[in-house]
Amino acid sequence: MSTQALETNIQLSDKINKLEASATLAMAAKARELRAEGKDIIGLSLGEPDFNTPDFIKEAAIQAVNDNYNSYTPVDGYAELKDAIITKFKRDNNLTYDHSQIVVSTGAKQSLYNVAQVYLNEGDEVILPCPYWVSYSDIVKLAGGVPVEVQTSIATDFKMTAEQLEKSITPRTKMIWYSSPCNPSGSIYSKQELRALADVLQKYPNIIVVSDEIYEHINYAGDHASMAQFDDMYNRTVTVNGVAKAFAMTGWRIGYIGAPKEIARACNKMQGQVTSGANCIAQRAVITALEAPVSNIQYMITEFKNRRQLILDLLSEIPGFKCNTPEGAFYVFPDISHYFGKTLNGNKINNASDFSMFLLENANVATVTGDAFGNKNCIRISYAASTEQITEAIRRIKEVVS
Ligand code: PMP
Ligand code: GLU
Repeated sequence: MSTQALETNIQLSDKINKLEASATLAMAAKARELRAEGKDIIGLSLGEPDFNTPDFIKEAAIQAVNDNYNSYTPVDGYAELKDAIITKFKRDNNLTYDHSQIVVSTGAKQSLYNVAQVYLNEGDEVILPCPYWVSYSDIVKLAGGVPVEVQTSIATDFKMTAEQLEKSITPRTKMIWYSSPCNPSGSIYSKQELRALADVLQKYPNIIVVSDEIYEHINYAGDHASMAQFDDMYNRTVTVNGVAKAFAMTGWRIGYIGAPKEIARACNKMQGQVTSGANCIAQRAVITALEAPVSNIQYMITEFKNRRQLILDLLSEIPGFKCNTPEGAFYVFPDISHYFGKTLNGNKINNASDFSMFLLENANVATVTGDAFGNKNCIRISYAASTEQITEAIRRIKEVVS
């Protein structure tokens, strides 16, 4: 039979049909496409440092190639990398883990995916304080879980209060997921704020916390607090971290967890059937990254801090952009609901997606709608871009909304 005669009837799974595409990656792809068509797009949609990976890390990778690190790696990570992670957790967070509690994965995204897969049953609820990082809700849904969104606002610096947490707990609640510093709001939970949440959880021993600390070092406010630092939370917290952001290593794809043994063991089992151990060269490079003093990457954090001030100053000149002051990460998350119902350049703006699309098409600036993060009134703007790009992007935005 010729191939032409074959009828195709490809029916994808319900699972994939229900899955939303990542809005951050989709916007970045759209910006790339428009650029290829010759448009002068300024991409402020993707959360990706514009720095190169520091030379001392690149050299470690080259050394690893030359040392013939080319075989399959242990599923949960090289022992030497686990040593470096354990030392890092102790040095930066005063957290004590042993090898059986660490799992290295292909990016923090896989770390999060693993945890959802090993902990959730169909219908289990996961509390997500909004705004949350774009992939949380779909990772939860893929594992059969039900995201329970808790709305916050600028008034509480986009943080969930203990009262809100208490109200959203049901007999089906299995987990709470948040990032601190937060992508997209830049908010940071203080030790006292985490303690207040932990106090609520004392009555609910079945609920675990997933604390995503990937922006830990990109902190302009001071101390970084981890939920697992509380003795009564240590055994029920999964601390997620990675090197993508602070070390400018997004493409190297290494993330990791420190977790209760049972969860770490389960993630190891899961990963063993899905991807095996993470890339050998990247793991060797990350040993060097994590062993280095944090002062080695301070130049990037200082630069992000300057850019944060620049973008906040520039946005404050645009009516209708209301911002919190982000204390970490490299995003601003302005409330732009002022524009809803208005017509700009002949375009009716009904919601944040319309506004973000309007900026792309009229100002050639790529941002991400707040809907993707569980917030309908805001857009996310990444300032991991040069000061020239930031200045020009905000000038264009100001021009098209005036
Ligand atoms: N968590 C948060 C809050 C993030 O912003 C990101 C973005 N990359 C990730 C996890 C995933 O990190 P990775 O690139 O290591 O998969
Ligand atoms: N975490 C980054 C962001 O929020 C990278 C994109 C992604 O992994 O979705 O933009």
